[in-house]
Amino acid sequence: MKYDLQIKNVRIATVNNENQIIPCGRVFIKGNKIAKIECHEENEDSEINIFAKKAIDGKGLLLTPGLIDCHTHMVFAGDRSNELFLRNRGESYCSITKRGGGILSTVKQTQITEFNLLENSAVSRAKTMLKQGVTTIEIKSGYGLNLNTEEKILKVAKALEFSLPISVITTYLGLHAIPEKYKYNIDLYVNKVIERYLPVIAEKKLATFVDAFCDKIAFTKHQVERYLNKAKQLGFKLKLHAEQMSDQKGALMAAKLGAHSVDHLEYLSKRDCLEISKMRTVAVLLPGAYYYLKEVKLPPIDTLQEYKIPIAIASDANPGTSPFFSLPLIMNMACVIFGLDSNDILKGVTLNAARALGISDNVGSVEVGKIADLVLWKTKSFERVIASPTEELCSTIIKEGKIVKL
Ligand SMILES: [Zn+2]
Repeated sequence: MKYDLQIKNVRIATVNNENQIIPCGRVFIKGNKIAKIECHEENEDSEINIFAKKAIDGKGLLLTPGLIDCHTHMVFAGDRSNELFLRNRGESYCSITKRGGGILSTVKQTQITEFNLLENSAVSRAKTMLKQGVTTIEIKSGYGLNLNTEEKILKVAKALEFSLPISVITTYLGLHAIPEKYKYNIDLYVNKVIERYLPVIAEKKLATFVDAFCDKIAFTKHQVERYLNKAKQLGFKLKLHAEQMSDQKGALMAAKLGAHSVDHLEYLSKRDCLEISKMRTVAVLLPGAYYYLKEVKLPPIDTLQEYKIPIAIASDANPGTSPFFSLPLIMNMACVIFGLDSNDILKGVTLNAARALGISDNVGSVEVGKIADLVLWKTKSFERVIASPTEELCSTIIKEGKIVKL
């Protein structure tokens, strides 16, 4: 018996160097890896038992790589639904934030919530994502601000891997919001994060990436640059929330430091796109936050595409500005609001999302040698998954070569 699992009679949609659709194919899995991919005629009967211990007949339906959500803030406590209605009454996100709402209200709740309760709510959210085809997820801290709570969040995030068949990449979001007591001395807080917190997170190996929020209501480019430099020295990979509400030139600064991704980018200039295109940085677009905050300035999508900057799509799942735990719903927004086509979106939630996390050698496409993270859908086309995100279209999930029991 050569293979452990065969998935036959499937329409494989994947993105490698070319966008590839195999109209009818078979995928053979050995251990946790994709061992072989074959094209075959529809309904051609293969002697499945000769090749594999187990077989799934895909009945001509769609097989894609497991989806990757490369930007989330899924570990948090509290509820900020009221902010939606405050904004509807005319208050801006900035003004809600300035008077203690926004991120700081989630911080308060997350600081006082016990590990187990945080974990239970995070497991429930991650399970919702998994059921919709997400097999890898990035989770940021940033709702702790003090070291104890930041560590708690990162440990909860990592612990999800023991509760669910889902891979978690953790990011220390050390500069997310300014704690109340440092309001008038922000540099003091930045120094504390750089000198005290970053080395502890590094030593305890709690995060692969670091991230920061560089914007007019958060941290300056100069503060963020000092922090990213120190993080780089400590061996972290870099990401940045940049140009969401104003052009601070943070994205270009981060890209020059070798950031894997710069995220949001509504206010990214054309000139900076050109510079960023010379690096390997991925542009992560977050249509959920754009939609929920009723933003009007679109990210420079045409320019990103013109300069061939890889685009990933992610949920930004968080309680205040994108309370959406559904990557298909976000894909729908990427199509309707950002005008991306289905191949761009497929690439954005698979291969380019993997690039944004530095794991594209292992996941993100259906290719021999990669980890067998796969999703079988109850439809023939990925367009349908995007167009109709609330239908339960995910039929079977394979995580590391094993069929997931949902
Ligand atoms: Zn975010």
